[in-house]
Amino acid sequence: MIPKVRVVLGEVKDYLGILEYFVLSDNMFRKGCLSQYPKFKEILKKSKNEKEDLRLFFESFNKKNKKKLQKLVEKTKKAWAPLNNKIMKAFEDLHQIKWTKKHSNFTARITLCPVCPRYLEYNAFDVYYRFNEKRIIDTFLHELSHFIFFEKLKKVYPKINSKEFEHPHLIWKMSEVMPGIILQDKKIQEIYKNKEISVYDNIKKIKIEGKLLLEIFQKFYDERNDFESFIKKSYGFIKKHKKEFERQF
Ligand SMILES: [Zn+2]
Repeated sequence: MIPKVRVVLGEVKDYLGILEYFVLSDNMFRKGCLSQYPKFKEILKKSKNEKEDLRLFFESFNKKNKKKLQKLVEKTKKAWAPLNNKIMKAFEDLHQIKWTKKHSNFTARITLCPVCPRYLEYNAFDVYYRFNEKRIIDTFLHELSHFIFFEKLKKVYPKINSKEFEHPHLIWKMSEVMPGIILQDKKIQEIYKNKEISVYDNIKKIKIEGKLLLEIFQKFYDERNDFESFIKKSYGFIKKHKKEFERQF
């Protein structure tokens, strides 16, 4: 079974809560989000009702740019189509696990939100409309890799609680490091070449005992017996250095 990805244009009302969270609440992405919308930043300064002003701004933005956004949906479909089967198969090989029926259909939703969460229970993830094609494909790869990674993780640790797959748990943090390793694998790079390391910028700087975490994980990966042993070694390491790791992430 090879999963398919449906690309859709999001409706602001469906992701208003996501926008409210990332744009209005105190979180690590707020500043970056506001820098994408300087006009809204100005509105916010005088706002008496932030949620209402946010809704009005983004609904009107969506309306004004509808045609452009619909074009982007078509462009994204075209860019992803030739990659889908090859990437899905490569993910199976790398993780040494098969996709199951549960993942027959994914949804990639184009939104106005600069942060792109994934929704494990809905087989869905968001893509920011202002990303260029390379960044869009990277988002597809990054998010899809999370889905299969967690399936493998459940096989390795059957008792694990899926709550731990979400922010701010240690397992979630570890999962955010993984695309930085997995997507650099030759099997993926041969299909879609992208040397850009697919992790948050703060992850690139994490050092444990003087060594970059990404380099430590890369070594575990290169020296792995199988994917399971790579997971066990990485998780063991993160647990051992939890304090140091969480201080930086
Ligand atoms: Zn991620």
